[in-house]
Amino acid sequence: MTVFEDQLSELNASFEDAYPQEVLRWAAESFGDRLAVVTSFQPTGIVTMHMLSEIAPKTTVLTLDTGLLFPETYALMDELEQRLNLRLIRVRPNQTVEQQSRTHGANLWEHDPDKCCNMRKTIPLGRVLGGYDAWITGLRRDQSNGRRATPMVSWDSKNGKVKLSPLATWNEEMIWAYIHAHELPYNPLHDQNYSSIGCYPCTQPVAPDSPDKRAGRWSGHVKTECGIHVATENSGTHVTTENSDIHMTTENKGDTIVAERQQGFTLWLTGLSGAGKTTISVALEQELRAREVYIERLDGDTVREGLTRDLGFSKEDRDKNIERVTYVAKLLSRNGVGVVAAFISPYREARQKAREQINNFIEVYVDASLEVCAGRDVKGLYAKAFAGELKGFTGVDDPYEAPESPELVIHSGQETLEESVGRILQYLEQRALIPAAVTA
Ligand code: SF4
Repeated sequence: MTVFEDQLSELNASFEDAYPQEVLRWAAESFGDRLAVVTSFQPTGIVTMHMLSEIAPKTTVLTLDTGLLFPETYALMDELEQRLNLRLIRVRPNQTVEQQSRTHGANLWEHDPDKCCNMRKTIPLGRVLGGYDAWITGLRRDQSNGRRATPMVSWDSKNGKVKLSPLATWNEEMIWAYIHAHELPYNPLHDQNYSSIGCYPCTQPVAPDSPDKRAGRWSGHVKTECGIHVATENSGTHVTTENSDIHMTTENKGDTIVAERQQGFTLWLTGLSGAGKTTISVALEQELRAREVYIERLDGDTVREGLTRDLGFSKEDRDKNIERVTYVAKLLSRNGVGVVAAFISPYREARQKAREQINNFIEVYVDASLEVCAGRDVKGLYAKAFAGELKGFTGVDDPYEAPESPELVIHSGQETLEESVGRILQYLEQRALIPAAVTA
């Protein structure tokens, strides 16, 4: 139990009769930019986004774009994004619908909707929620029997986040009254008896007098929830690792869902001092984080301030330096993290040892001539080396053994930073190690 779990009863008691705006204000003040709204642009989500646009307009809005939404839903997203000036991130699954058909059979939602929702909703949400401490949902107690006990605030043990449902106590009538009072746009399918709208293959209209507003979801299946609001008991979840792939197996009432998570990899940037390794690795880190890839950057300078501060620059010490970094990169990659390692790593043999130990090892040779690097001389080290004040300097009086067959060569003196980063990202995409870009 966390400290927060201890406070739940007290918080829920104080919020039970509160206006949703009070709960939202508390959330925004408590979590700041670590708070996100998760919405599928249904009426409750629209009300929430409108309230937040007045309370905390910079709050991130996450929506799961499964690739299978109604055209009306996509149009509504665009309209509300503009009207409320949303910081909207459309979170997409690793596989397109076509790729999913190839790997899991056509129309997976027909024969295994749990697996389909897991791949297209639950896993992408879990991935993106890693960047937040709390998330806001549009759950309401009147939506279905299964949601009658929805608390205002709870601990989402599956994602390890605080979960808020500020409109839990509102009913359908109150939601629509708010939407009309503020002249907010809504999905026109609601006027055609679609009371709850998700992916088009799994959504049907329902009779206007149906007490279950979610009866049109997954009709013909026992399924009633996509899974993102279904808590997973710790005792029912275990994680096993096989090489670099992590397979998370969730046992749920006898059903077994096996889902793939991000594969780890290590981009190993090698090259002379001043070749541009750090600059490229910083830009790569930003791009990869924007795609919600779990990432860790290891840099020669910062590693030497901690992990290897006892080492010097003799060949023996340089080898030990790379040996320790290799060990860290191996552990991270093995557990599904993408590593961007920027090290001069001058000796071929040391890099070969790293390659042999790390799965999905990608050697990137940042190739810039000694003249170009010395011309940059950001730290003034080349000047000292040429003057004989600095001994054993790579490329001057210590060798740099260029890679013989790296996966990628970056000519940093001839291409722009954007071109270099773009080529590396393209390579990772082709190897299916990262998802395509998430666009707002
Ligand atoms: S709602 Fe249907 S189509 Fe959408 S992810 Fe779930 S099963 Fe797949």
